[in-house]
Amino acid sequence: MKGTVTLIGAGPGEPELLTVKALRKLKEADVVFYDRLVNPNLLNFCKEGCELIDVGKKPNHHPIPQGEIEQLMIAKANEAQKIVRLKSGDPYVFGRGGEEGISLRQQGIDFEVIPGVTSAIGGLAYAGIPITHRDFASSFHVVTGHLKSKDSELDWQMLAKMEGTLVFLMGMSELETITNHLLENGKDAKTPVGIVQWATRKEQRTVTGTLANIYEVATEAGMSSPSLIVMGGVVSLRDELKFIEERPLFGKSVGMPYTHQKVMYHQLIDQGATVHEFSKPVEVSYLAETNKSYNAEGRILFTNPTSIDYFVKQMIQEEKDWRYFSQTLFLTVGHHTEKRLNEQGILPTERYATIEEFLSETSDNLLADTQVIGSKEMTEVFDGLDKKVPNIWTTHEERLLHLDEASWQEPDILFFPNSKGAKLFINELNPRELTDLADKKIVVMGSITGQVFEAQGIPVIYTAEKTLASVIEKIIKEVNK
Ligand code: SAH
Repeated sequence: MKGTVTLIGAGPGEPELLTVKALRKLKEADVVFYDRLVNPNLLNFCKEGCELIDVGKKPNHHPIPQGEIEQLMIAKANEAQKIVRLKSGDPYVFGRGGEEGISLRQQGIDFEVIPGVTSAIGGLAYAGIPITHRDFASSFHVVTGHLKSKDSELDWQMLAKMEGTLVFLMGMSELETITNHLLENGKDAKTPVGIVQWATRKEQRTVTGTLANIYEVATEAGMSSPSLIVMGGVVSLRDELKFIEERPLFGKSVGMPYTHQKVMYHQLIDQGATVHEFSKPVEVSYLAETNKSYNAEGRILFTNPTSIDYFVKQMIQEEKDWRYFSQTLFLTVGHHTEKRLNEQGILPTERYATIEEFLSETSDNLLADTQVIGSKEMTEVFDGLDKKVPNIWTTHEERLLHLDEASWQEPDILFFPNSKGAKLFINELNPRELTDLADKKIVVMGSITGQVFEAQGIPVIYTAEKTLASVIEKIIKEVNK
């Protein structure tokens, strides 16, 4: 059976501008096609094993021709069930979505479209420019500025007469020609004009002027593609309606480990930041040390949820069940670990928020009597500490297999909420990258997380308190230094 291709409008750049349906389809996809205009954070939503195909560029940096992309999609639809094609903005606004749909249909392939927020409307909104307003514009016209081909000759006389807001996409290389044509055809030279580059992204920049001077203003400011060119009275509302530019982290980016729980991610975005998440950790191997015997009279500390799954697996393999551990005291680090233990019908005797808390509250005698069960990168953290933890059982190894260098090189600052995230990250870096990392600002929560970096000679910045508010405060201070 042939698969279904879903054309998804990914919006103008800010990942949260994706629709709820698009998010579901992305999570379900077997194959995802994407390009450079699509925010890479979106790819973290893909399920494990999903094939990611970058059609933005070939190894020689040229984009893959449209026909070839369509052929690739057709080939994949013959192999896999759920294929997603992520397109920037809305797929049907100068996105060639129509062409792709038709060629898929011609091959008998099922396809569907999920509309997206087009940059022509949503991108302007992020610059404080409403596309219509009762006092200024009661219609709008979205026009291609790509004037190269003969088929797209524009009727300048008609465009110059339009009362509504005019928005040009793909128009930057023709800005001078566009403004000249409109002026020659009688459009008011005083018409307010705005140029919005990289709308909704960290690099978002806006300049304004009039039809008469905008080319000069934009050239002077070095504005280039991708930009929206917007003309009409609505541009004058920008001073009153701009919002994102006023936030303390606007124009700044933060790199941080992928987290399932998005509290910090959302708080940073609400402060105006762009957040680059590193790739999601994947489990690479099961390392159970089968000959380790449990001390069923002692204490067992789980440091992460997956280790509990392995513990149970091992227990069953050894033909034991929880009754064997009726005298054991179970301890957990972290909320998710506790939850997983609860799912097994077990309440932890002690629950710790962090490893530091566990260590500071545990005497050496008790520590000697505690078996720590965790993933490899967790147990490596213990190995690096001054306080020695004698009994460690490593259940499995996780890795960041798709850690993209840009995801940590580009951000203005990096943030690590815990030692596991720090360790997974460090483990993927080669010596040159470790040297580069020493030049980056790294904010950490807690001394054990800090030690993961300091052990490699990489300095870190500590927050005053171990709270999200304290992290935000520190990041704002550091990026504005
Ligand atoms: N389907 C897209 C448009 C694709 S054409 C949409 O609906 O938004 C590509 C052009 O869109 C770019 O040349 C630029 O003019 C505009 N564009 C797309 N994303 C943009 C962004 N984030 N900021 C400014 N312009 C953008």
